[in-house]
Order: sequence, then structure tokens, then C-alpha cells
Amino acid sequence: MSLIIIGTVAFDAIETPFGKTEKIVGGAATYASLAASYFYDKVKIVAVIGDDFQKSDIDTLSERGIDTEGLQIKAGEKSFFWSGKYHNDMNSRDTLVTELNVLADFDPVIPESYQDCEFLMLGNLTPVVQQTVISRLKKRPKLIVLDTMNFWMDIMMDDLLETIKMVDVLAINDTEARQLSGEYSLVKAAEKILTMGPKYLIIKKGEHGALLFHEDKIFSAPALPLAEVFDPTGAGDTFAGGFIGYMAKIGTVNFNNMKNAIIFGSALASFCVEKFGTEKILNLTEAEVAARVQEFVSLSSFTIEA
Ligand code: AMP
Repeated sequence: MSLIIIGTVAFDAIETPFGKTEKIVGGAATYASLAASYFYDKVKIVAVIGDDFQKSDIDTLSERGIDTEGLQIKAGEKSFFWSGKYHNDMNSRDTLVTELNVLADFDPVIPESYQDCEFLMLGNLTPVVQQTVISRLKKRPKLIVLDTMNFWMDIMMDDLLETIKMVDVLAINDTEARQLSGEYSLVKAAEKILTMGPKYLIIKKGEHGALLFHEDKIFSAPALPLAEVFDPTGAGDTFAGGFIGYMAKIGTVNFNNMKNAIIFGSALASFCVEKFGTEKILNLTEAEVAARVQEFVSLSSFTIEA
């Protein structure tokens, strides 16, 4: 049994009100697999990079027990590159550059050793590639989670709608839920999106937490109020990776387990934003993660005296 995570492994250049980075390692699959590795020890990555990555960057993933057999390295080509600039509120950002490079003609290869996949995270990537990965698995995984973004809605909506039909859980942010559904109310947006294929919908709301929708049930998870947010890049992917990593560890798919998974995903995401890039989520201890989860529990638990 294993968890496959596909997505970008990339270089990012980030600018926030607190500083600016040169090209640093990022990418949806990088953040998601690092986060999942805190809960589950059979995390396998499917992605593509150019030969501009250092071996030590790949070793960083292997050191956390992440299987990189499905990571293709294209000689003479450049890795996916993304650059973004955050506004002062740190909630919104402008994408300055998206260079697909190796992603433009990515043909994902699923190693034979990955065919035991029971949990599949389709991280942010070209929708057709996401479909190809599903079709190349001999057995449909027990749970397929899809993360995507407005970039793909803008340029490949039809392909994305096909991918959405094939998954169990869709995880998107509030702006994307509104764009996808054409509804401003998130409740109405969720009603519509749940008719498009997925049985579960997660709407991420940045510093305002996340909502989980399933049939007529809604769960609302807070985000931890943090004194210092340095860089929100990757928080969504970290959330999704923590979510599916926890689901893979528990093994049983139901609404109740997903509620817990959302708290574990939120806890990992709260670490991610405290430093630039992946820095903070490279070396957390079990005790730190457990304490952070407990902060979430205290934050939102209350009793009402009648
Ligand atoms: P997030 O902040 O969770 O939206 O994720 C940011 C990460 O997603 C960065 O590390 C980027 O490399 C990656 N990214 C940005 N744009 C895209 C895209 N269009 N497709 C896939 N990954 C992307």
C-alpha cells in the first residue's frame, strides 16, 4: 500500500513584504510530499524536472523517506519556474511568471513499484497529466484527491472538468470555488461543485481556515492565528499533503476521518508559512506537530452552559 503524489517540483522566486528570494526549490509536489511524510512512510512522487536541480535538492526528499523513482530528470531542459509577489495582506498575490519548461510535454511514468497505490494526490499540474496518471494505475486507488488552481481554470477549463469528474475529493481555494461554480456564496458553490463528480469538497480560505463539504454536511476548521507569516507559498499544497498523508495513515475513508485530516493538514500548513519556501517543513519533530495539532483543538473547542 502506498501514497502517490504528483505535481510540480519547481523553482520559485518569491517576494513578500518581508523579503525576496532568488530561485528556491518549491513546487506543489515538493510541499505536498514533505507534508505527507510526517504521517505516512510510503510516499512516492511522480514529477519532472530539468537538469538544473542539484542532487542535494532531490536528496532532501529522499531523506524524509520519499520515494523519487517516479521523478524524471530531463537532460538539457529547465525545470518549471514560478514567481509570485504577495500583497501587504499576505492573503492575495500576483503571479509574475509561470514558465512551464519541462512541464509542457510531461509524460508521467508510473514505476511498477508504485502500482500498490491506494491513495493518490493529484497535486497542482496540467489537468491532462493528472488524468494520465489515473489511467496508468492498474487499480483505481481507494481515494483520489485533486488540487488545482485558477491558472488551469483560465486556460484548460474543459480538461480540468474531465479530471474533476474522476476524483473523490477536490481541494481548491475560495476564489477558485467561485470561479469554477460561478456562484459567490460558498455554500451554493459547494452544492454545484458536488454535482461535478467529487463526493467531498474542501474549500481553503487561507488565514480563515478551511471548509469540508460532503452531502448535506459541513465541517469548518480554523486556521491558527499566527503572529508572524513570512511566506504563504505552498501552504495549500502542504495542507493537501498533510490531509492525504493522514488519510493514508488511517486507511479508512469517511467524513469523520477527513475532519481530523483537515486539522492535521492545517497544522502542517501553519508551519509552512512561518519561513520562506520549504524551510520550516523540512525538519519538524513529532512533538512539534502534536503540540500544533493540540493548539487547533484548544482554539476551537468550547462548551455551552445551558
Ligand atoms: P500554493 O501557494 O499552495 O498555491 O503553491 C505554490 C506552489 O505551486 C509553488 O511552489 C509553485 O511552484 C507551484 N505552482 C505555481 N503555479 C503552478 C501551476 N500553474 N501549476 C503547478 N504548480 C504551480
